[in-house]
Amino acid sequence: MKRMIHMQRVCPGFLLLLLSAPPATAQQELRFGVLGLFHPRELILQPEGSQVISVTEKDAAKNPVLVLNGETGRRQIIFHAEGDRVVANSRFADCWTTAGRDGGTVAFRLTVPGRFHRVYHGRLTIQARKGVLLAVVAMDRETAVASIVAVEMAESAPMEALKAQAVATRSFLAAGPRHLDFDFCDTTHCQFLKSPPAATSRVTSAVQATQGLILAYRGKPLAAMYSSRCGGKTHTLRDVGLNPGNAYPYYAVPCQWCRRHPATWQSRIGASGEPPRPGNERSRIAAARQWGWSAIPGNDFTVTADNAGWRLEGHSVGHGVGMCQMGASGMAAAGAGFREILTRYYPNTELITLP
Ligand SMILES: [Zn+2]
Ligand SMILES: [Zn+2]
Repeated sequence: MKRMIHMQRVCPGFLLLLLSAPPATAQQELRFGVLGLFHPRELILQPEGSQVISVTEKDAAKNPVLVLNGETGRRQIIFHAEGDRVVANSRFADCWTTAGRDGGTVAFRLTVPGRFHRVYHGRLTIQARKGVLLAVVAMDRETAVASIVAVEMAESAPMEALKAQAVATRSFLAAGPRHLDFDFCDTTHCQFLKSPPAATSRVTSAVQATQGLILAYRGKPLAAMYSSRCGGKTHTLRDVGLNPGNAYPYYAVPCQWCRRHPATWQSRIGASGEPPRPGNERSRIAAARQWGWSAIPGNDFTVTADNAGWRLEGHSVGHGVGMCQMGASGMAAAGAGFREILTRYYPNTELITLP
């Protein structure tokens, strides 16, 4: 099931945008636009556990600060969008900020009413655009890496594979921001990001063991791509119909695990327009927009026409560019270290340590 969920997140739009990523900057704190997918008009903020949160109108120091400390009447605050302003506690403001009492990071829970909640560790800023709330969480880089790796791999994955994933994820973040209002979003466009794992989690250990380590290409952080299951060989950007320009071209790397563990998927889609072109990410995006990711989980497939439409049969999951996560787990289970895994899937890169 984990794989099925993962498969839907391998959005090739991500691939296309990577090629125009802005220049790299090293950052200790990263700003994530969160929950934007839900276009929330209302969000509920609560302190997590025994944390104490200060809620302030930005740039209005003389206004009273609301403190949430879990006591009666101080358990939560509701933010509501009114045009480009945000109402909280009957007060209008252009922007609200929340942080620990010392202005530092704090654990808090953000709820989309009637949908779900997520826990974050950082400092929250809330603004509104045309009646929709824009929530941005500034968090420590390593917290962000852990929160992403926890989505990308099962906690039970081999430790060296988790470490390889941590380095790839950190490299992606170190390669630079991809939005204007914040650095990264929490969707397939940038990186899925959920609540940070527990301090005792194996994911946390993998992140700590590789702290600050990233992949670099020609001396610059690599916005490392990875996907779920390559099907036997990874792809270059050109293989999937993209022009790398001067960026890292990626390589066609044989993947032993996928060769030894072949798996196929089948789907059937209705016939309208052209059938999707095998091995082409742009074509796959177009087909996925029309039929859903589950109809076309990978780009290695054959197409057969029948009366009802097209029958697709494939054996890869994801875009197949960069590290194969199943292959990485296979290598780790066979005794490879994370450096060996990264060298295999990202040839001609080097490992460097961020300041
Ligand atoms: Zn994004
Ligand atoms: Zn593979």
